[in-house]
Amino acid sequence: MPIAFETLYDKMTLIREGKRQEITFEVRTDPLTGTTGRVFNFPYQPPKSPNIEETFKRSEGIFCPFCPENIENSTPRFPEELLPGGWIRKGSATLVPNILPLDRYVGVAVFSPQHFVRMEELKPEMMNDAFRVVQEFIRRVAEVDPGIDCFSINWNYMPPAGSSLVHPHLQVLCGERPTNHMRLQLECANRYYRENGVEFWDDFIREEKEKASRYIGEIGPTFWTVGFAPMSHIPDIWCILPEQKSLLEVGEEALSSFLEGLSAILTYYHSLNLFSFNVSIFSFRFEEHFRVNARILPRLALRDIGNSDYTFLQAVHKEHACVYAPESVCEQIRELGFGNPIPRS
Ligand SMILES: [Zn+2]
Repeated sequence: MPIAFETLYDKMTLIREGKRQEITFEVRTDPLTGTTGRVFNFPYQPPKSPNIEETFKRSEGIFCPFCPENIENSTPRFPEELLPGGWIRKGSATLVPNILPLDRYVGVAVFSPQHFVRMEELKPEMMNDAFRVVQEFIRRVAEVDPGIDCFSINWNYMPPAGSSLVHPHLQVLCGERPTNHMRLQLECANRYYRENGVEFWDDFIREEKEKASRYIGEIGPTFWTVGFAPMSHIPDIWCILPEQKSLLEVGEEALSSFLEGLSAILTYYHSLNLFSFNVSIFSFRFEEHFRVNARILPRLALRDIGNSDYTFLQAVHKEHACVYAPESVCEQIRELGFGNPIPRS
């Protein structure tokens, strides 16, 4: 059975300035999870100068536990039996425990001594150490605790994405139970294999490449597409590592390819005047029919009155609506020269 890209085309009608107007929209179904997202064309432009300087200035008056003069005394340590020394340091990055018990093991990887890093400065070399300490943490947890099966690497960049600190940091969750989205991905990938005898990921990648309207490109062993059924106001990006069943297997080439792609996506966001985003990378310890994958989604700046881009639709209905067609976003990212693909050996 081919991958289903289902769309319900619909419209609403209203009278504006005495004229009857029909406004079209789509309800799209995610080909893996079956969750829906709404797509319409709306003349939304992110404001030209979101007040990023003001956010940074405000943050200077707030205590930052991740700045070099504070990190030693203001962050906790992991127990010695998990991490000898209590933390991991690699290059410019440091991994310490999170104080929120979001899972059995939760690490925070602080990128660098630099308190404020602009989105356009987030190049692969700037991000590399933080992702490497996170990988080392995941490998250590997997070795020490055989009960841990679920791993995710997560990033809230800047306050609109939920971050209370502007100092860039990743959050890594290791636990026994998957989150809802991970569970749904796993259940649906397993079901696809049961029903079709082939992997969802292979079929999906082939179809997206053939259709080409959302396919951004490949960098090394990473595949990039714009999400068919959106998960954010501006369409989100889906990166799949089709050869990697677990983050425990992800090596240098895959990591640097991922960071190169991520950096290109952030360049695109910057070109739209966006300055905040969420990233999550999903993995199990080992699942035959699962592949490591990541979702990257931009978050909109708070408006003058302080409202966020999450409303009843996202918060309660768990549904998203985006203001641009994913296909138009794909075109714009490709125009910026995504990738310059690294030849595969
Ligand atoms: Zn800081």
